[in-house]
Amino acid sequence: MTSIDEAALGRPATSDAAADVLRGHIRDIQDWPQPGVVFKDITPLLATPAAFGVVIGALVDIARQRGATTIAGIEARGFLLAAPVADRLGAGLVPIRKQGKLPGPVRSATYDLEYGTATIEIHADAVRPDERVLLVDDVLATGGTAAAAHGLLAGVGAEVVGLTVLMELSFLPGRERVAPLDVVPLLTI
Ligand code: AMP
Repeated sequence: MTSIDEAALGRPATSDAAADVLRGHIRDIQDWPQPGVVFKDITPLLATPAAFGVVIGALVDIARQRGATTIAGIEARGFLLAAPVADRLGAGLVPIRKQGKLPGPVRSATYDLEYGTATIEIHADAVRPDERVLLVDDVLATGGTAAAAHGLLAGVGAEVVGLTVLMELSFLPGRERVAPLDVVPLLTI
């Protein structure tokens, strides 16, 4: 049952448990893939079934709260989260992939990286207009990837009900870049 405090926060109780689990199962890798970056490695989480289950359960709660009918995952680590969430929810799964991977007709979005650009794609017929899509990824950093994914989903007619991530790096402007998309992190760093 949801208590008044939890309702006031607008978050399921499992989110707090998930934040604790993440603190214990995410490994910081210094200076990877380049100097100055602290990479948030989720492989210890993936390797620990009980911990992974708590985190997936929290993401499912968020998806239910927002009435999501479809889960969209961003390649590659977003897939590892989006697939079990969609399965537990009984929702459809839409992959947003790096350029050149999807076999059917696609729509593309290109966005700036620190050095150069990146392109992601979605199947043009991936969603129907009445679908409520929750976007899922592991980390929200500068927000470029999520903003591009949001644009792709909106472009194919989806109603995007939010972006949920395991970790939001709050010292970077990701949240502003994806605005007005509702961002729901399990853990804010
Ligand atoms: P951004 O577009 O800058 O928000 O970067 C988000 C994407 O890059 C996500 O798909 C993440 O998987 C990945 N990413 C960015 N920064 C990190 C980090 N410090 N640790 C792990 N993954 C990251």
